[in-house]
Amino acid sequence: MSRRRILTLIILSVFIALASFLWRMLLSTTVPTSSKISTMTRENQSAIIVGSGLAGLSAASTLISHSIPVILLERSAKPGGNSIKASSGINGAPTKYQSGPPLSDTSFYADSIHSAGKLFESAGREERGRRERLVGTLTNRSASAIEWLVEKGVDLSFVAQLGGHSFPRTHRGGGKTPPGFAIVSTLLNELKASPLFTLQTGCVVTKVVQAGERVEGVQYQCDDGEEKELRGPVVFATGGFAGDAHGMLKAFRPDLTGFPSTNEPRPGSQGLLTAVGAQLLDMEQVQVHPTSFVDPKDASNPVKFLAAEFLRGEGGLLLTSGGKRFVNEMETRKNITDAIMRLPAKQEVPKQWDVQLVLDEGAYEVASSHIDFYVFKGLMKKTTLSELGAEAGKTVRKYALAAEGEADDEFGRMHFGHWELKSEEVSGKSVVFIGRVTPAVHFTMGGVVINEHVGLLGKKGLTMEGIWAAGEVTGGIHGENRLGGSSLLECVVFGRIAGEEVVRYVSQEGRQ
Ligand SMILES: Cc1cc2nc3c(=O)[nH]c(=O)nc-3n(C[C@H](O)[C@H](O)[C@H](O)COP(=O)(O)OP(=O)(O)OC[C@H]3O[C@@H](n4cnc5c(N)ncnc54)[C@H](O)[C@@H]3O)c2cc1C
Repeated sequence: MSRRRILTLIILSVFIALASFLWRMLLSTTVPTSSKISTMTRENQSAIIVGSGLAGLSAASTLISHSIPVILLERSAKPGGNSIKASSGINGAPTKYQSGPPLSDTSFYADSIHSAGKLFESAGREERGRRERLVGTLTNRSASAIEWLVEKGVDLSFVAQLGGHSFPRTHRGGGKTPPGFAIVSTLLNELKASPLFTLQTGCVVTKVVQAGERVEGVQYQCDDGEEKELRGPVVFATGGFAGDAHGMLKAFRPDLTGFPSTNEPRPGSQGLLTAVGAQLLDMEQVQVHPTSFVDPKDASNPVKFLAAEFLRGEGGLLLTSGGKRFVNEMETRKNITDAIMRLPAKQEVPKQWDVQLVLDEGAYEVASSHIDFYVFKGLMKKTTLSELGAEAGKTVRKYALAAEGEADDEFGRMHFGHWELKSEEVSGKSVVFIGRVTPAVHFTMGGVVINEHVGLLGKKGLTMEGIWAAGEVTGGIHGENRLGGSSLLECVVFGRIAGEEVVRYVSQEGRQ
């Protein structure tokens, strides 16, 4: 080839590259704008994450580890969402922290399917397959989710058995820091140290922007009132609607609007996704947690502090105000809540029952970090059995006999955690820790439909382009009942998958 020909070819290819670049710039500016626009070429554009709970942070961390810049938009003034409040822990199996022979816990998938109940059993073939793949992904990637967090420095070395689980597999740390705070603050600190990470708090996303079928970015408004727009692939991690008493909760479960909630009041954001074609499922599946504290100083406050589930797992029992047991405390949340609601209600506004959560000194030893805090807040107190109602002595003696293995438990409980009070030592003077509890709206199992790659399924069941969703905003994983500890887990597992999918998307885009 002559030198002249080579030169012509070089000039031609530079021209084609320049023309294609200008064409793509032109396309990327045709999306409707409001007042201020941040635009970037696709090769170096940031991924946009909406919501700074654990799902959003897990996606962000994965993206940053692949050198993709992230802009995280958070409506509240402080990051962390509901995730930062999580108090019992995160599931994982099999892990090295679990008791028993190494890697002996193989029943996490079966427990999750069992807990999901009729919704899974009655689903058509395709629908059931999709739900099962979600649960398979959740449980198969659970051990690596725990390892991922531990490698980042989170202590998850304590393991408890929660209701509905046939094995202890809910991980938390040994110190005083609750697991939600420990996990969220570790991820946030790591992200804040990266120059690729931008966190904008006080910024609510108001619209998902599409060009044709493809999602191209979001519009949002910050506390300064200015409307803005960002371009890039979008991960939605906006959480559930259990705090949206007068909006989404009223629309899907009007019967629950009079109940207290463990969530701060806040509107759900699923509507932003349905506006661009996302589908919803299981929206009426709302988890009512059986044990939220009734604060004696503020009994009618509709926002309740959660009594961590592992308190029951470590040996805690539930008594009526007269001191009688009425349920196996290791049942699923749904079954315990149903049992409480069969008792006479204490008051109608908000709708509340009067149940006593009782732990002995053995259970206190392993849960002291939490119980000391609850005592400090006035939600629990150290007292003696004589205060728990006429039947309490007899009831606790029977329970202790079952815990010693001397009798079958009358409600079929098999696991008694660290309960130590012996049946022959039970008396009115026995020391116990108690709190008054009532069911409260806690978690929404329903949400937007996703597949196991966290792609959002649109109108014709097709995966939507340019957008992914992870965490409580999604539906279909937990069916009728989420197992305790599986929400933090879904945030990590599916948040990481969202990050991986965006990495794939951006690199494909870069090659085009
Ligand atoms: C008190 C309590 C204790 C719990 N304990 C446990 C536990 O021990 N184990 C467990 O597995 N689960 C637990 N859960 C459940 C679990 O914490 C949550 O389900 C999970 O953390 C949800 O995480 P997420 O990232 O999906 O959403 P969140 O953590 O709720 O984060 C969503 C974020 O998105 C933001 N957002 C919403 N809409 C917009 C918008 N339009 N624009 C910008 N930002 C927006 C919200 O402000 C929020 O910060 C608990 C829940 C509560 C309330």
